Amino acid sequence: MRFGSVEFFKVLIKTALVIIFFVPLILAVVFGVLFANKSAAADKLRESCESVQKDNDRLSKLSDIIMVGELGTAEDFYEIFEKSGTSYEEFIALANKNKKLDAQSFYNILSGMGVSDKDIISMAASKNTVGAQSFYEIMSKNGIVDAELISIIARKSGGEIADYYDILTQCGFSDEEIADYIAKRGGASSSGGEQTGESPEPDVSGAPTDSPYAALYEDMYVSAPEEYVREKDVIYLTFDDGPSSNTYSILTYLRKYNIKATFFVVPTRNDECYGALRAIAADGHTVAIHSASHEYDRIYASVEAFLEDFREAWDIVRDATGITAEIFRFPGGSVNDFNEDTRGAIIEEMTRRGFRYFDWNVDSGDAGGANWTEMYNSIPADIRQTYRSVVLMHDAEIRYNTVLVLDDVLKLLVNEGYKFDKINKNTRPVQFIGPFSE
Ligand code: ZN
Repeated sequence: MRFGSVEFFKVLIKTALVIIFFVPLILAVVFGVLFANKSAAADKLRESCESVQKDNDRLSKLSDIIMVGELGTAEDFYEIFEKSGTSYEEFIALANKNKKLDAQSFYNILSGMGVSDKDIISMAASKNTVGAQSFYEIMSKNGIVDAELISIIARKSGGEIADYYDILTQCGFSDEEIADYIAKRGGASSSGGEQTGESPEPDVSGAPTDSPYAALYEDMYVSAPEEYVREKDVIYLTFDDGPSSNTYSILTYLRKYNIKATFFVVPTRNDECYGALRAIAADGHTVAIHSASHEYDRIYASVEAFLEDFREAWDIVRDATGITAEIFRFPGGSVNDFNEDTRGAIIEEMTRRGFRYFDWNVDSGDAGGANWTEMYNSIPADIRQTYRSVVLMHDAEIRYNTVLVLDDVLKLLVNEGYKFDKINKNTRPVQFIGPFSE
């Protein structure tokens, strides 16, 4: 259709008619039905909608948010919402009548409306603060548990469990309930060892204290950071198990987009490995420790066994690159089938020594055999749903599809405006269990 043609004007007029007559009509019906049972709040909201009816674009956004549940556009909605004078509790009630919301959406809406994390958590925790149709009731109806909301808030604000402990206590949660919650987050009832029960506040100081392992590797300490950085929409690519024959390809792609990443290495004492470690370091990436042996039954047999294996990898990295690695990743992640009995003690000892470990919150799926298409779709999709992403990938001898898809995934994410960074000691860890498990 040519601009300015008769056909063009026909379509234009038709479109205008639809906008002028049908959209307000449909919206009136929609809001009429939606708000039929609602009192002053709904009226206010509808009046506000009418007052901006000429702005069809904004109106349909509002309609989408309420009717279709396009909650990602909550910020667009906020301007209109603000004029209506409707309280957020009322809005949540209205929205919930029509559309089931998940905890993240709830949080996004409330947070977008300027409700502080503390207020949200207070509402979540204290069950009768919001009046008749309380926030808590709405959450419960949606199957949202306190823990879930707390997790979202902790993830968003970078707060530590200790900070939330105070708020939760004020809200009337008992130590037992809080400890139970923290233990559940770790996926194991006994995780956290003695911490569970008496004090849910984990010791994250990293200060050398009395430890049965203090006599081992007396030089293997690093200074623990005092504060942590947690930045929205930053992607931390992590490559486990290298160096491998794929290392140089990965480095080439990272260089192409000027991206710094983190390599959790499984180093060996040979020239080839030393060369690859130096290449990783020379490109400015973080060299972090994964394991020397990567043998689960061996390294998780005891704290001593873990330290011995870690020490070997740590030493090789230092010999090859001069780098004193400060961060690490547990083979299999911090929670796996092999470390149930020892994980608490290992985490405590490594934390005491100042080392910080990272799990991940986006799994590329490469080690699970994901194909190109699956990875190309799932990695960006998962990243979009995450406040900041620590992405698990592998630099393995087996040619996973990682190397094949990396270029295209990076291109996509760079175009979407994401920032990339390497993990360093001040990066707030992402952990399944332990001091920084949400
Ligand atoms: Zn591994």
